[in-house]
Parts: sequence; structure tokens; C-alpha cells
Amino acid sequence: MTNIEKYQYDVVVIGAGGAGLRAAIEARLAGKKTAIISKSLFGKAHTVMAEGGAAASMGNVNSKDNWMVHFRDTMRGGKFLNHYRMAELHAKEAPARIWELETYGALFDRTPDGKISQRNFGGHEYPRLAHVGDRTGLEMIRTLQQKIVSLQQEDFAATGDYDSHIRVFHETTITELLLTDGKISGAFGYVRESGEFLLFETPAVILATGGIGRSYKVTSNSWEYTGDGHALALRAGGTLVNMEFLQFHPTGMVWPPSVKGILVTESVRGDGGILKNSEGKRFMFDYVPDVFRKQYAETPEEADRWYKDPDNNRRPPELLPRDEVARAINSEVKAGRGTKAGGVYLDIASRLPAEEIRKRLPSMYHQFKELADVDITAEPMEVGPTCHYVMGGVEVDPDSAQARVPGLFAAGEVSGGMHGSNRLGGNSLSDLLVFGKRAGEHAAAHATAHGPATVAQADVDAAVAHALSPFGNDGENPYALQHELQEVMGDLVGIIRTAAELESAIERLAVIREKVGRVKATGGRRYNPGWHLALDLRNMLVVSECTARAALERTESRGGHTREDFGKMDANWRKVNLICSLDGDKVALNPQPLPPMPHELLSLFDTSELKKYMTAEELEGLTDGN
Ligand code: FAD
Repeated sequence: MTNIEKYQYDVVVIGAGGAGLRAAIEARLAGKKTAIISKSLFGKAHTVMAEGGAAASMGNVNSKDNWMVHFRDTMRGGKFLNHYRMAELHAKEAPARIWELETYGALFDRTPDGKISQRNFGGHEYPRLAHVGDRTGLEMIRTLQQKIVSLQQEDFAATGDYDSHIRVFHETTITELLLTDGKISGAFGYVRESGEFLLFETPAVILATGGIGRSYKVTSNSWEYTGDGHALALRAGGTLVNMEFLQFHPTGMVWPPSVKGILVTESVRGDGGILKNSEGKRFMFDYVPDVFRKQYAETPEEADRWYKDPDNNRRPPELLPRDEVARAINSEVKAGRGTKAGGVYLDIASRLPAEEIRKRLPSMYHQFKELADVDITAEPMEVGPTCHYVMGGVEVDPDSAQARVPGLFAAGEVSGGMHGSNRLGGNSLSDLLVFGKRAGEHAAAHATAHGPATVAQADVDAAVAHALSPFGNDGENPYALQHELQEVMGDLVGIIRTAAELESAIERLAVIREKVGRVKATGGRRYNPGWHLALDLRNMLVVSECTARAALERTESRGGHTREDFGKMDANWRKVNLICSLDGDKVALNPQPLPPMPHELLSLFDTSELKKYMTAEELEGLTDGN
């Protein structure tokens, strides 16, 4: 009989990035016995890699900023497909979440008068990103971990056991969620090092597992991001919303090949960096779309003046939302004006003194020096789009972060709706804090209302059998399958898409599905990456199927979904969310109306602007000049 370590918790948080840690703190503050589970080492998550900062309208650098401006920018960035209520809560609550981090011990960079400093980023009207150089995520994770340790010390003083109320299970991967009577009752997984199985009985699970980038070869994401939370939610009966929207960050490294995809922070452009093609032309002025024309500079002179005098000049086009910049770079390279390695140049060297560059962008300086032997204070960087972030995710109730399954909550990158069709830089770190807190609070309330949970033995046996199944197979190599999947997604479901390519992707994914059913693991259960990947593949596959199916269905271009055969935004599609679910083990896709934005939020925009996005019917009752 297989040995399984069993635990009972009030709340189980899967993921130890910003969303997971903030959620766990809240659940523990509500008095709940909380487990934090992370696939990699504690502290190693995407959040720690975040560079530029966390967006919050504190108004420290420009006092005109407030939640309404942030809300407007977020909706514009997402091309109005965002769940308005999530964007509203996020804009309203982000400043308090940042200030709260200071009470936990965070040390943000300061303005000359001692306030938290805020920097410019694409799509944000005012300087809004609270930051620590270009290592903001590191400070955020350090602070949240420190808060958890301080809570554990309080628990030790009260109970004599540091782990009595919060325990971290690191290098532990959850492979299955378990349900009893249609409600969450547990989570099952394995310890990476030993291969031992663990069972957590719990009435409340918070998914905080981050993104899906490893389904693409060129990506800023690290090995853990195989869409596990998305797939766990689907298999538990939850739904995913708008999985066609993926953010290809415009600036990843393109050279040398071994580091292709590693992120070059948007702060380089926020701090004055400009994009040039191989002919030396600053090309972004040619790519300002009509919907943004009023807000962006028309000449390099005006753009450059903006850095010193933002009130009387318009923003440089390098600071357009990421989807626009990524498409522009893609077009330049396709037109033969790219670098030999297939990128364009990003120049900060000619824009700021070397000392200033090293001070503001220390990580970038070291990254290029060490990985590419390029001194960014003296020469331009070579950059190109890289798969970075998934806007789609688990469909949740905005206020409680609860998915469609009772007892299942989701926060951070794994959840969907907040960012619409395109996320603004900096809005993820603040999203993690706002919705992490909400998920923790509501999961704790759910645990109080429903009490302890019990899992049926048959369900545990099925989870064990599934986890061990690759050892019984005599089929496919997991690494070859991952490579095949990445090739399909990169080539056919990439930055620019067509119906023919997407149909071909769906056919090829069906073939991969059969192979994944036969995927083989060799060796034993102790530290066996091939076995782990074999289990991850099932998640990558189902999430990729949702993405490809939704991308084929949405016959328009919007944000992180560009169709060469349907090049324009379509106001009728703006009213539609595409919902992905599982019918047995088959992916089902259904349209669902987007909740209409209430009048008081619509009235924050000019009607002339709303007309660019919405149908006449939606705008009924709004007067011009609104
Ligand atoms: P993550 O921080 O990704 O953490 C996910 C956690 O889930 C990890 O602990 C992982 O081990 C765990 N996990 C996953 N699957 C399982 C499983 N099956 N079982 C157990 N545990 C599991 N955003 C900004 O707003 N500003 C920035 O400046 C910025 N810079 C970025 C720079 C880089 C290089 C990258 C990659 C992203 C950046 N982002 C930035 C995006 C942002 O960092 C992420 O979207 C965000 O950190 C996601 O946080 P999260 O808490 O949702 O998940």
C-alpha cells in the first residue's frame, strides 16, 4: 500500500508568490490554520523576479493621480474587456496594500521629500509604480516572508510550535484537487525530493500558482509555470475566462540563444530608453493606433520633453501598452528592419549618464554584462517579444475571489478578468496584494462556515493511481512532448494568429493529447524531473487547448490576441467572455456576456472615447461630453 502523509488545515494556499503569501497572511490573521505549498523553493516565484514595480495611485510624484485615473488606464490597457469590478477594486485598494507592506517592513525607493517614489510605465498616465530599483519583486517577497516569520514567532510564543498556524511545504507539487459533495475537501501532491505523497484535507483551497509561460519556448517564465492552477481548477469543475489573451512582452533578450526570452524590464523605457530598428530609426511613432493618438507624442522632441514636463507634453510612444509595442517590433522585424538575431535595439546608453543607468537599472546592467557581454551604459540592447503573462485565468467572483466551485478561490496571475485583453506593467504586483488579501479573507470565512473536510479514500486512490501512471507506460518521452507542444504554441498560437494556423494547432494538440496519455517516466520516485514533467504535461496540454480554441473562436484583434485575418477590434466581441470548461476530459468553450459597467464608472470616460470600444446600444443614455 502506498504511504501518504495526511494533514488537516482550515485553508490550503497553493503557491508562494505574492498572491499566495498575501492570502496566507490574511487567512492566518483570521485565526485559520493555514498551509502554504510551493512547487519550488520558498521564495523562488515569479514575484521575486518582478523588476519594475507595483502600480498604485498614491499620487506621490504627481498629485493629480487617484483611483479613477488608474481605473481608466487599466480599462484602456485591457481594451475594456476587463471585469470592471475587479479593475475598480484594484484601483481603489492598491495604495492601501502598498502602504501596508511598509508596515510589514518593506523599504521602497523614496522621493526627495521622503515619500515612496513612483516611476513611469507604459499605459499609466502618471508615474505610479512603487519600486525598489529594478528589484521590486525581491523586496515584496522578502517583506511578505518576513511577515509570515513574525506571525510564526507569535504562534511559537502562544503554542510552543512555530508551525501551529502557518506551515510552509516547499518543493511540493499539488497534482489534484479533491471534492466531497461538490465542494472542495482536499488537495493531493508529492514532495519533489523524496517522491512521497501528501494529502491535505481542507474545506478551502486558494490557487495562487501563477502563469502558463512554459507552454512557449521563448518565454520570460521559469520551469514551474505549466498552468497547474488553471488545470486544477478545470478538473475540479471550475472555469477559465478568455484564455486567448496572452501577453508577449515587447522586450525579452534575443541574444545569445541560451538566454532568449529572459525579460528586459519596461523600466528601461519608463526611464527614457528608446527603440530603434536596424536602420537607426526610432520607429514607434509609426505605430500609434487611433484609439491612443490623442495621448501620445507625435515627434521625438515632444516625447523627450515629456520626461521633464509631463503636464504640457504627451507621452513617448515607447510607453504605449505592451501589446502595441510587441506588435510594432514584430512588424519591424518581419519587414526586414530587425537585427541579425531577430530583434530591435533598445537604447538607454545615449539617453542617461552611465552612473544613472547603473543606479536605476542595476539588475539589467548585470544581466546584460554577465549573460550577453553587453555594457548597457555604452551600447544598445537587442530585444524582441517574449511570452510573459496570461491575462486569461480562473473565473472568479470579483469581491470574494471564489471560483465556480464552492471552497475554491484564486488570486494573482492564475485568476482571470482583472486585466481584460492586456495587462499594464506594474498592475500584476498590485493585483496580487489586493486579490491575495481578499482571497485569504473569504477562504477563511468559508472555512468557518463549513468546518473541517474529509476526503473519500476512493478519490485518494484515484489521485495516487494517476500520479503513478507514467511509470506503467511504455510510450512517449516527456521532454520530446514538451518540445512538440512548445513548437505548436509558438508557431501557431503566437503573437499573430490566423484561422488556418489555429485549426492546425488544434489538430496537432489532439495528436499530442494521445501521446500525453502514453507519456512514460523511468527510474524511481526520488527526485525525478522526467516524472514531474510527465505530470505537468497534462496541465500544459489542457490549458493550451483552451487557448487555441478560444483564439480560433474570437474573430477580432484585441490586446494580447491578434488575428491577421480579423485585424480590427469589434465592439460586439467586447461584450463577450469566452469561458473554457471540461466536459469529461474534453475542452468545451462557451460565450458568456461581459457584466455591463455601471453608469457611475462609465461616466469616468468621455463618450467619444467609449464609442471607439462599445456598441451604440451599450452607450444608450450617456450624453456626449460625459
Ligand atoms: P508567482 O509569483 O508566479 O508564484 C506562483 C507560485 O505557485 C510559486 O510558488 C510556484 O512554485 C507555485 N506553484 C505553481 N504550480 C504549483 C503546484 N502545482 N503546486 C504547488 N505550487 C505550485 N509584474 C508587475 O506588476 N511588475 C513588474 O515589474 C513585473 N516584472 C516581472 C518580471 C519578470 C521576469 C516576470 C517573469 C514577471 C514580472 N511581472 C511583473 C509579472 C509578475 O511578477 C507575476 O505576474 C506575478 O509575480 C505572479 O504572482 P503570483 O503570486 O500570481 O504567482
